[in-house]
Amino acid sequence: MNDAPKRRLRLSWGGATDQGHVRASNQDAMYADWGLFVVADGMGGHQGGEVAANLAVRTLTKAKPETLNELHEAVHDANKVVHETAVAEPELHGMGTTLTVLALTQQDEGRRFAVINVGDSRVYHYRDNQLIQLTDDHSYVGELMRRGELTQEAAAVHPYRNMLTRAIGVHAEVEVDEWLLDPVAGDRFLLCSDGLTNEIDDDEITEQLSISHDPSTTARELVRLANERGGRDNSTVLVVNVQIDDIDSEDDEDLTEPQDSDKSQVVSLEDESNPEIIDSTDALELPSKRSSSHPKKQRSWLNDRVGISLGAVIISLVLLIAAGAMVATIGWYARDGYHVGVVADQVVIQKGRVGGLLWFDPTLEQWTEIQVAQLNNQDLRRLTSGKQLADLAEAQAFVADLRTRLVDPTSEALGDN
Ligand code: MG
Repeated sequence: MNDAPKRRLRLSWGGATDQGHVRASNQDAMYADWGLFVVADGMGGHQGGEVAANLAVRTLTKAKPETLNELHEAVHDANKVVHETAVAEPELHGMGTTLTVLALTQQDEGRRFAVINVGDSRVYHYRDNQLIQLTDDHSYVGELMRRGELTQEAAAVHPYRNMLTRAIGVHAEVEVDEWLLDPVAGDRFLLCSDGLTNEIDDDEITEQLSISHDPSTTARELVRLANERGGRDNSTVLVVNVQIDDIDSEDDEDLTEPQDSDKSQVVSLEDESNPEIIDSTDALELPSKRSSSHPKKQRSWLNDRVGISLGAVIISLVLLIAAGAMVATIGWYARDGYHVGVVADQVVIQKGRVGGLLWFDPTLEQWTEIQVAQLNNQDLRRLTSGKQLADLAEAQAFVADLRTRLVDPTSEALGDN
């Protein structure tokens, strides 16, 4: 007999995602259902990022992992699927994605939350107005900050702040970080892509979590703020609230705590809190542009809707064309040339200005076989200082030069001892 009060775990959640103001598409993906919450942020030219993020999320969620082992297996399967697709399809070569998961898993000691992370999307834990970042960012600047070699302020403007050192699908195998936490009443979790954290700092996230207890409201407001601050990337936010109620001992259908080996008491938990899952397509309800379904008279339609004269329209058009030309010129300049950098611990050739220019980020042009660990300190510094190169041939010559000075990382490590 067990007279301990029985408890029911309730989860409620809400999410929001938006393309932002700069990116041509939304390459973030998210998933939320009872006990499984996922955010992925894809990378790779053409449609690669979108494909990688969605493939990873789909592979993981189809597996319906219930234990930590199953969750691990599902993440490694996701890595395999994305990697094999990238290898098989030339236009998807080099694609990858972050993958951040909060899952309610069944452990020997009962139900526990598992947090899994690869990449620089994040899981935060919020309790008593305190926000803690549970996950480590697998990014170049993240690694430097953990080693104490870079401040947060310097990281925010570092030319390689977007470089990942770990991602799903880039290599055949992937290393995965994990954490286990007990469910505690009142806890809140926040999963997000870097589109949020590059625009909004931890204090502001804390503030938004303290302003509203409703997960959906918090998620929408944070995505709206990320857009207001520039919206330079896709941003995705998923908020999960944890509630634990004592329930009548007779009401044993919703027990969350497994009791001994009585299988009938190890219940399938049903969410009763009207979860809101916001589809990525309607994440932010921006005012829709009312299209002119009845533009019978072109001139009066313009006048009626906008209330301006034809002259003003022409001036606006001229200004618009001039602005367009200016953007095109900046774009041409930003995309001109090449440099050699680091992605996922690998030396790569990138097209465009070091660190990007305004909203134009450099794009990955070629992977090399060189690992960061094979570079000597001087060459690593040359890479991080970001030398701009005129064309692809010059970038390839730069890489060939690096090859002449590679060090054996294992012998260096042994040398330290
Ligand atoms: Mg991103």
